[in-house]
Amino acid sequence: MALVLKAPATSSATTTTSSSDVQEKVAAIIADIRARGDQAVREYSAKFDKWQPESFRLSAEQIEEIVSRVPQQVIDDIKFVQQQVRSFAERQLASMQEFEVETLPGVHLGQKHIPVAAAGAYVPGGRYPLLASAHMTIVTAKTAGVPRVVACTPPIRGEVPDATVAAMHLAGADEIYLLGGVQAVVSMALGTETIARVDMLAGPGNAFVAEAKRQLFGEIGIDLFAGPTEVLIVADETADPFVVAVDLLSQAEHGPDSPAVLITTSESLGRSVIEHIDKLLPDMPTRDNAEPAWRNHGEVHVVENLDAAYELADTYASEHVQILTAQPREALAKMRNYGALFLGEGTCVSYGDKVIGTNHVLPTRGAARYTGGLWVGKYLKTVTYQEVTDPASSAKLGEVCGRAARVELFEGHARSGDVRAARFGGADLPW
Ligand code: NAD
Repeated sequence: MALVLKAPATSSATTTTSSSDVQEKVAAIIADIRARGDQAVREYSAKFDKWQPESFRLSAEQIEEIVSRVPQQVIDDIKFVQQQVRSFAERQLASMQEFEVETLPGVHLGQKHIPVAAAGAYVPGGRYPLLASAHMTIVTAKTAGVPRVVACTPPIRGEVPDATVAAMHLAGADEIYLLGGVQAVVSMALGTETIARVDMLAGPGNAFVAEAKRQLFGEIGIDLFAGPTEVLIVADETADPFVVAVDLLSQAEHGPDSPAVLITTSESLGRSVIEHIDKLLPDMPTRDNAEPAWRNHGEVHVVENLDAAYELADTYASEHVQILTAQPREALAKMRNYGALFLGEGTCVSYGDKVIGTNHVLPTRGAARYTGGLWVGKYLKTVTYQEVTDPASSAKLGEVCGRAARVELFEGHARSGDVRAARFGGADLPW
């Protein structure tokens, strides 16, 4: 029987849709930008970000000046992390096989991967300069071979986020705009006088950004539903409660809507983690986000054994799942639903977020039930082709096609098969 040591004060969102309030607001902004284009974009930027420059696009000279203001250590670290992300993405790309197979004599079926022509990268920045999202979206798109990568990030409290712009530039963005929120997503998706439309959009964001992507899906490709961050830790009695507490708060600080969940086999560990969090929170510089996130969306569950812990964890399908147990790799075989798995005390979600090289744009609100995170393959269209060079095989396929299509009452389809059965196999046309 599971024991709940801490329940959420308000119910955590467990569906892939946002609240109806957010849905309505976003729908209204999209409709307005559709109708009024750049004029509406300018007004929303002024309203939500107090930002109305002459041009949202940064010129090459502006970018150079902004990058020159960034301390050398920050530039070096950006380059280090981007190389980690690039190395992993290159290995992912190498794992994507193109092939051609001969399934019948002279019947050649093939698969290839074509990068989209233009991708939009949303780099969040309302609360924090999330430059790591520039590495994740832009480096990955460029590794996939996308020729045009458009990158948008909001100003932070009216200021240019220098390090974020440097990260976007060093990652290889072809166009950089200081524009955020729904107005940035819609501009990239639909195109305006300022920004030519892209074919797909990637990147995380707050509930408004994630909802805008969701509503525009279909008109444009999207990576996945990557909304407010979540963390879930599975811990046994061997875990250090202080480390568990620090790691839960490290994700709760993303925003007041970020769920942080602990599932443990040890009641004493669970109680100790709650005590540590209560002690750590008052001094946290990001308490404004972390405290409401923990108070409203924090959970601690005690279960009988690790199998029960994995089973319960799977029902959350959390974005980040951290395993702090004696045998952390066992979760690889036992768990099904997560965006990314962090095995053992040697790593942590912050490594995934900031430095280690796996992608941090990950599914939230249960989307991990059906998708993994952003990766090089999301920027590639896996397409197929076919050719039949043996007349006898074409005649055989034509006969089957004629019969199969007529079962479905598709006379036109059937006749394309009949013509080939006649031309390559000498059959009479039945019409
Ligand atoms: P953001 O860039 O996503 O959003 C800021 C924008 O929101 C602003 O530019 C503004 O235009 C818009 N906005 C603010 N209030 C609004 C309102 N009332 N109506 C309409 N638009 C409004 O930056 P953020 O807010 O700091 O959020 C970043 C988010 O990204 C966090 O929730 C974080 O958890 C999430 N994140 C998710 C992942 C993932 O992979 N799932 C990774 C990193 C970050």
